[in-house]
Amino acid sequence: SIDSALDASAAPADILHQVFGYTAFRGHQGAIVDQVIGGGDALVLMPTGGGKSLCYQIPAIARHRAGQGVTVVVSPLIALMHDQVGALEEAGVHAAFLNSSLDSAGAQHVERELMAGRLVMLYAAPERITNPRFLAMLDSLHQRGQLSLFAIDEAHCVSQWGHDFREDYLQLDLLATRFGGVPRIALTATADEHTRADIIDRLMLEGARTFISSFDRPNIRYTIVEKDNAKAQLLRFLLDEHVGDAGIVYCQSRKKVEETAEWLSAEGFSALPYHAGLDQDVRRRHQDRFLREEGLVMVATVAFGMGIDKPDVRFVAHLDLPKNIEGYYQETGRGGRDGEAADAWMSYGLADVVNQRRMIDESTAGDEFKRLQVGKLEALLAMCESLDCRRVRLLAYFGEDRPAGWRCGNCDNCLQPPARWDATEAARKALSCIYRCHQHSGFGFGTVHLIDVLRGKSTEKTRARGHESLSTFGIGADLSEAQWRGVMRQLIALGHVASEGEYSTLALTDSARAVLKGQVQIELREPREPTPRIRSRGKT
Ligand code: ADP
Ligand code: ZN
Repeated sequence: SIDSALDASAAPADILHQVFGYTAFRGHQGAIVDQVIGGGDALVLMPTGGGKSLCYQIPAIARHRAGQGVTVVVSPLIALMHDQVGALEEAGVHAAFLNSSLDSAGAQHVERELMAGRLVMLYAAPERITNPRFLAMLDSLHQRGQLSLFAIDEAHCVSQWGHDFREDYLQLDLLATRFGGVPRIALTATADEHTRADIIDRLMLEGARTFISSFDRPNIRYTIVEKDNAKAQLLRFLLDEHVGDAGIVYCQSRKKVEETAEWLSAEGFSALPYHAGLDQDVRRRHQDRFLREEGLVMVATVAFGMGIDKPDVRFVAHLDLPKNIEGYYQETGRGGRDGEAADAWMSYGLADVVNQRRMIDESTAGDEFKRLQVGKLEALLAMCESLDCRRVRLLAYFGEDRPAGWRCGNCDNCLQPPARWDATEAARKALSCIYRCHQHSGFGFGTVHLIDVLRGKSTEKTRARGHESLSTFGIGADLSEAQWRGVMRQLIALGHVASEGEYSTLALTDSARAVLKGQVQIELREPREPTPRIRSRGKT
């Protein structure tokens, strides 16, 4: 009949409409689908929420209808596999997954469906792909022309430069070497150049067409505040703008996650902790509640969020500095997936800068890797310190340049342009103070002491070390402590000063010379007034 002929149409637009109920492709989706249905390879860089799944699901359906067999989707996320397979089955597309959550009877059933050619899509964890028994099944399908397509989701996991590296992904080059002629589509929401090059290289995608979508998330408002009392600042932000909203608060350590969740609960919010140290059951329960209940605040480490598709997350807050811009972008990108307004709020301070640098310095990684991490951290710090549009910085990092002078109108710096001051002279004073103290004592000092010396504050330590006799003692009495912290932060962010060792002592780097000579102009934001303390809401 006409009906069933229409049902079996392999035209992408028909599938989009009939199976998924959508009227039009978004962005590059249509072109990507055509490329893959035609048997070509593709590398898809699309922000979270951009619609990556359809890019391989529609080719999978079209090619299966055309008699080309099954699409194997490699995904590291078990929860996501469940959700997607459930949604596909509901839409009448026969799909299944193979992962550690299945018992052997369940796995056998899936394998029978696979070998009988009934499956349109099979989701599998990366470690499954390299399993010899599974490979033999794929070989057999391949020989019969029934292996249609490979989709490699979260493809950035193949990159050691990224934050989600997975050992198993390294072996996915076998998809190219072992299954010649089977098209491959790799997808990721991480788009910096290093990661992209890594994906192409390690997955052997040199011949693939690359599709890059804009990474702009115009509905997300970026705000970065200088930390004075982070808790008070967060509470102010939540009470002013997000009472009753669902959101995520990221913290660096598990301990801080627990403390913060407890504290927010005491303040009257529904807050739950999430980190890798919690029982798997607890984690699953908290995640489920976050997805199902309204107005829940998840306090989490970076362990939370990959593959979480909750459309109405209204804010993502960072109490500590993320590792780099990709991390920041990924984490904040979990807000506002429904397209409605969402806030990305972060507090950061001198201690964050010092800590992150120290973590890199003290890691056991190789020098090249460390240099890369430092470069990435510096890019993030430059964004934090920026006096101009945050979005311009963020997008520039992903290779999207905006015309000079362009402003987004939806970040703190655009909405409330910060007051600036010329810190060139102050930077020179700070550097000479670091130098003099080191020269006098034979070892370096941390920021607190250095600022005391600059401001001429007499302490036990300034007296004991004899630093009150130095020419730099008191040369910066005209500036506030907050201003000096800004100067130090900026000097570290710009790499003119390095923070070293267990005590985070400061030392000049080679580039400090140009600053000392007055060859580098340094402009800083005026510190804002400290956040007023607010009375605790408590539970009523
Ligand atoms: P990603 O994997 O890139 O984060 P998803 O594939 O989960 O994004 O898609 C995000 C949301 O957008 C989903 O709810 C999806 O159904 C919806 N979506 C994707 N493509 C379209 C489209 N062409 N028209 C309407 N909605 C779409
Ligand atoms: Zn802006």
